[in-house]
Amino acid sequence: MAQPANNDDPLSSKSKITVLSKFDVDVKGTFDYKKFRTLCVRLFGADEVDQHEWRAREVFELFDANADGALNDQELYRCCDWIHATINPINVLLVVDVQNDFIDGTLALRKCGYGQEGSEVVEPINRILKDGHWDKVIYTQDWHPENHISFFENLALRELHPKSKITKEIAKPFDTVVFLQSYLTQVLWPRHCVMNTWGAQLHKDLLILPSSERVYKGQDPDKEAYSGFEKNTNGPSELEKILKAIGATHLYICGIAYDVCVKETCLNGLQLGYRVAVINDCCRGVKPDDVTTAKNLIIENGGLVADSDRILSLVNESKYSLTMAHHAAKFIS
Ligand SMILES: [Zn+2]
Repeated sequence: MAQPANNDDPLSSKSKITVLSKFDVDVKGTFDYKKFRTLCVRLFGADEVDQHEWRAREVFELFDANADGALNDQELYRCCDWIHATINPINVLLVVDVQNDFIDGTLALRKCGYGQEGSEVVEPINRILKDGHWDKVIYTQDWHPENHISFFENLALRELHPKSKITKEIAKPFDTVVFLQSYLTQVLWPRHCVMNTWGAQLHKDLLILPSSERVYKGQDPDKEAYSGFEKNTNGPSELEKILKAIGATHLYICGIAYDVCVKETCLNGLQLGYRVAVINDCCRGVKPDDVTTAKNLIIENGGLVADSDRILSLVNESKYSLTMAHHAAKFIS
């Protein structure tokens, strides 16, 4: 099983050289950018390198720690770790919150008034579930207690901060208030995804693959939890533990809502050093403008935004993304 990109060196020098020889790259003599570029073309394809030359350049500079324009043995070994994780991916599909309440229930996207339709994600997600060669599939579920802080209906249960511009008297669903406790800024959502209710169940038509995992979030009554990486206690989150246990390298993320929980899960995954792609046509959001902002944020933070055909070619056909690999290179020490 491959190791995560940010783990300690698992390879011997000999096997590292074997990695390079697979790409017919001469390891004797100076390993300069020209040689590295040739390697990148063989790994990612000429089009990808032409289009993102700056990324190849930056990855080379990241490995060239002493900035002498060439990779010495030690620098080349780190580069080989990166190649190893690139060509031996552990691919995880994260399906975020495809739950009744976001599709047909109290927080159905279509009721939010921006023309989004949550049910449209089910068919394309089922296709990638069936057609993709996934090492692991994980479904996240918003899973709140009755007294959860994010519910508009629970506004009477807690004090607002005097600086909250929206007071209890004028607050409406979807307004943002500031709670006194922890000075917490919070959007007031209609009551949704109460644990063990129909609204919190995954949509009936969504395929549930055998040996998949579930991650529940938002169980603490006083904490919002948009990201699948959100923790209930200190230490690594449940999701992180699952990913670490299987040595996950690549996260492919889809679901609902693009501009809320999908976005936050992508950003947390990137912060942790995973190679992250969001599957654009398998997501729906609350507000189209916020979806555009979410995509830009994911890209700015090192993620790939791509449709499912491209994603399937990455996970099924041994094709590699320079964008995703570029991000991982920043985490190899
Ligand atoms: Zn929620």
